Amino acid sequence: MTPTPICDAEQRCGFRYNGLMNNGPMNNPGGTTPIAFDNSYARLPEHFFARQPPSHVSSPSIIRVNSALAAQLGIDADWLASPAGIQMVAGNQNPPGADPISTVYAGFQFGNWNPQLGDGRAHLLGEVVGPDNVRYDIQLKGSGPTPYSRGGDGRAPLGPVLREYIVSEAMAAMGVPTTRTLAAVATGDIVQRDEPQPGGVLARVAQSHIRIGTFQYFSSIQDVEALQLLAEHVIDRHYPHCRELDNPYLGLLEAVIEHQAELIAKWQLLGFIHGVMNTDNMLLSGETVDYGPCAFMDAFDPATVFSSIDHAGRYAYQNQPGIANWNLATLAQAMLPLLDANRDAAVAMAQQAVDGFAPLFVAAYQQGMGNKLGLQIASDETIELMNDLLGLMRASRSDFTLTFRYLTDLAGDQDEHYGYHPGDGFDDWVRRWQPQLDEQAHSRMVAANPLYIPRNHLVEDAIEAAVYRADLGPFHRLVEITGKPYGYDPALERFAMPAPPGQSVRQTFCGT
Ligand code: AMP
Ligand code: MG
Repeated sequence: MTPTPICDAEQRCGFRYNGLMNNGPMNNPGGTTPIAFDNSYARLPEHFFARQPPSHVSSPSIIRVNSALAAQLGIDADWLASPAGIQMVAGNQNPPGADPISTVYAGFQFGNWNPQLGDGRAHLLGEVVGPDNVRYDIQLKGSGPTPYSRGGDGRAPLGPVLREYIVSEAMAAMGVPTTRTLAAVATGDIVQRDEPQPGGVLARVAQSHIRIGTFQYFSSIQDVEALQLLAEHVIDRHYPHCRELDNPYLGLLEAVIEHQAELIAKWQLLGFIHGVMNTDNMLLSGETVDYGPCAFMDAFDPATVFSSIDHAGRYAYQNQPGIANWNLATLAQAMLPLLDANRDAAVAMAQQAVDGFAPLFVAAYQQGMGNKLGLQIASDETIELMNDLLGLMRASRSDFTLTFRYLTDLAGDQDEHYGYHPGDGFDDWVRRWQPQLDEQAHSRMVAANPLYIPRNHLVEDAIEAAVYRADLGPFHRLVEITGKPYGYDPALERFAMPAPPGQSVRQTFCGT
């Protein structure tokens, strides 16, 4: 029987988690906002967004504040955890300097063109320039309806909020470019999905939320002036070196292709499956965005798909590079008017840029796989070794993460893999591989092969405890453990191993 959520439709949720935070006392009841907003996107023309404040929630309580990220942004984490900070994250109080907007975009969803999407449940509060001199968006997700909600309620259930917190921060800890999570709150309100769920809001941080779909929106309404303004904005924010080039917009396209190739290589090297690689879910900054039905693969099988809505397996693990390539071709198409006044010349440039994706991806992937195996040069021989290993892993359905950790330990003569063995038939391969290792091999491998990843069954357990038992302990524990993915603690075996029989998660749901 499915457990009943802790709240029913009549009740206010009553989620109050103030005791569980790992931050100090709420010593700053705070009238002033210690966030120096500077909102460059909101200074773009009015048809780039809708000015729209978040809507009110009834009794917000803090779930978790990301103190390290707050520090990186120059924001006082204690303030963020204070009543004033919670009100901001919940969308109840518009802090001074914020200028909340919801942005418009379009996109190809599962290959089908949708001419008008947009932030249907997200509000960009504004941007901050951190002490590192990088500009970051602070966006609320689940903060109420907007003109782009298309009939949706603008809300997020708590479960997906917790999932995004766990997975985005784990990705960051593993060195994958990604949007981050600054804080999460429970709203105290119910959101109605298949069953009533407690609601949540996530404060998301990105270098920007500009998507391939943002370009596609302006391209589809044939607004070349807006396309140009958007391209200028993206160059300023992410790729200022393009200014020096003969054709800055072509440079921009090439830079995005390069960043996406490197990003997708990192996903593949970790067994990460995004699940919804629609063009509205791909950022020009090259950060991973929109953790919906995403999942990490346990047993290695390139055809793995988790998302319950991905019936045709369009976004299967093995398809991710090809899909990214296709998405980038649609970006190039949208940017054609910027590349050259002569259409044929523009098409030729775009084609050449898009053709650059495959070699860039392969180079990044082979380099990363080389690191995972402690090998330095990608020769024909090492590439054959890589392919043979993947073939063995596939045949024996060995655990993707732990197989690399097992090999890491072999290279270093240690046991930090809890005795995991990938299965029969690896010994011959190991005999071919070991002579190729040099003295730095083990340290390269340790840095490339995580032990603690947000495995699907652990994420589900954490969500289940929070939503059905009001117990945030497993969530906090998982955030902390996966925040140190390369470490080893003999007591944490349960967090490194695949799901026990019967508990493995075969399908994930958007739950939006
Ligand atoms: P996603 O698949 O999460 O990227 O969402 C696709 C689009 O649907 C985006 O434009 C979202 O803003 C919008 N959307 C998703 N969930 C909701 C919701 N609960 N209410 C309104 N819009 C939503
Ligand atoms: Mg999206």
